Amino acid sequence: MNKGKQDRLSFRQAAAYTRRALALWWSTAPEVLISAWVREGVAALAPYLPLYFTAQLVNAIAGGGEGAWTMLAALLASTGAVAALQAGVSCWDDTMRHAHQEPAWNRILFEKLLSMDFCDIDNPRNQALLTQIQQLRNWGGFGLNRVYRVSAEALGALLRLLGAVALSVSLFTLPVPAGSPLAWLDHPLCLAGMAGLMLLSVALSAALANRAERYWNEYDGTQGNRGFSYFYFIAMRERERGADIRTYAQDRFLENAGRANMRGKTSFGPDSSIGRAGRGPMGACAAAGEAISQSFVGAIYLFAGLKALAGAFGVGSVTQYVGALAGLAKGLSDLLQLIGVLRANAEFLKPTYEFLDIPNNMYQGSLTTEKRSDRKYEIEFRDVSFQYPGTDTWALRHVNMKFDVGERLAVVGENGSGKTTFIKLLCRLYDPTEGEILLNGIDIRKYRYDNYLALFSVVFQDFKLLSQPLGANVAAAEGYDRVRAADCLEQSGFGPRLAELPKGLDACLYREFEDSGVEISGGEAQKIALARVLYHDAPFIVLDEPTAALDPEAEAEVYTKFNDIVEDKTAIYISHRLSSCRFCDEIAVFDHGQVVQQGTHDTLVETEGKYKALWEAQAQYYQEKNGQT
Ligand code: ADP
Repeated sequence: MNKGKQDRLSFRQAAAYTRRALALWWSTAPEVLISAWVREGVAALAPYLPLYFTAQLVNAIAGGGEGAWTMLAALLASTGAVAALQAGVSCWDDTMRHAHQEPAWNRILFEKLLSMDFCDIDNPRNQALLTQIQQLRNWGGFGLNRVYRVSAEALGALLRLLGAVALSVSLFTLPVPAGSPLAWLDHPLCLAGMAGLMLLSVALSAALANRAERYWNEYDGTQGNRGFSYFYFIAMRERERGADIRTYAQDRFLENAGRANMRGKTSFGPDSSIGRAGRGPMGACAAAGEAISQSFVGAIYLFAGLKALAGAFGVGSVTQYVGALAGLAKGLSDLLQLIGVLRANAEFLKPTYEFLDIPNNMYQGSLTTEKRSDRKYEIEFRDVSFQYPGTDTWALRHVNMKFDVGERLAVVGENGSGKTTFIKLLCRLYDPTEGEILLNGIDIRKYRYDNYLALFSVVFQDFKLLSQPLGANVAAAEGYDRVRAADCLEQSGFGPRLAELPKGLDACLYREFEDSGVEISGGEAQKIALARVLYHDAPFIVLDEPTAALDPEAEAEVYTKFNDIVEDKTAIYISHRLSSCRFCDEIAVFDHGQVVQQGTHDTLVETEGKYKALWEAQAQYYQEKNGQT
């Protein structure tokens, strides 16, 4: 925000942004648009019917009472019918909005998130964009949401205009009887004066309202809103933080966040810049605009009243004309204001489009990896170096490595040495900044992306299971082979716990959806994640610190089991606990992004170097630990 004049969108650009937003709504949730349009359309036309019958009723009474009962009945019936219609339509619109608006908004963003290159999801710039889009919506309803609401209001204003024209034409066409001293009311200059007054009032009130709206564009609430979103929506709601929050009474931060960002000087509240603008120029503009339009209503009263006095029409019609012309002025001014709102809002659409237009730059080849029955796949890292987007440090540097089918490769090293990055490149979540990765001698970029990914089953270090049935988690699908899922759980060591679960594979994990959901420990979660790897039966199995949550005994059990289970597959284990990698055929030692040693445990432990140093340090640690216990 805080935009300079120079990069303000032109009217044409703002219109194009708004059209695009409407097209997005139309393709994602047309029901939300339609119900909002119908609601505003009905609300715009609703007052005119009772207004017409009120005028006719007063005219009938003033004219001696003939037809008054009929008009009264028509007035009551039309008022009731219009109120009922409005209530029904509002209810329908509310339902549609609650049911579809939020999911549609999320779908638009999530579909993009799912389809974009993984490296772009991780890019801090894109994460910042996403946060900004969410903040704009939470904070002032700006962005996509505002477009659909305003489009409905603009339609309402247009219909209000049409209805007003239909009901007010006769104010100008019915003449004052000849000879009346008020005959000048029909003079073209007088009519032009009324029209001019109306246009002036509309233009002024709309301009003032738009000026008031512009204060929102010029106001920067991002920082405060970021604090608000972080503390209220993220930090304090994640149940994993619950224990920490209580232990350290971190709710004090919440209070401070409230003071600093909501009631304090910085972003929201009476002392914020927007608060001061509301009490000052922004409020004054809004009030002056309203005063001008109400003065115009006074002028219409005068004009219509004088014409009725002169005998151009009955006294009842004064109500109709005043109502209709006030509606005309309001319709026009609303329309102008709404154009201003849409223009201001178009600025807030910029981050949304910037996000939706992030291109997919990852090259995707067309070669298939062909499901080889002999599973003969060979991977080679050839002088691979990598920097994370937005950083200029090397997370990997000149990595050369080759591993054949059926091998057990361990990747070890201290935290931050590049082990996980190596796996992310292997699974093509990122492409190397320099060098290349080859599968059976061909650059992996030349393969179809989905085909290549299907070669890997991975348990990432920070994997997350879903609050869904156990079996569905193992298969990563709702429909699955139950026997196979149970078998995989058995192999991964989850069998005894599965036998205890009354609902078995149908037991829901966690309690987000079911009160009877099963809470599982970190170790159990890892066993389920291992079962998921087995279920997918890919030729490459990658385990990134898969046993971090297990105690040494349970860890040893998993590794022994896993060694049998892996069979003919290629397995890559990542761990900073060297003891868990002893059984591997080959061990690669990472240090500061480079492979500094490679070989078997027996040779490495005999050679002076990083591995030996780490091994001795860890052995000493475990000995001390065991000595104490
Ligand atoms: P390890 O798995 O050995 O603990 P990583 O591969 O996670 O190490 O990290 C290697 C280096 O890359 C570290 O310096 C880390 O700070 C950095 N790094 C990891 N992930 C990111 C990221 N998403 N963006 C920027 N830097 C990262």
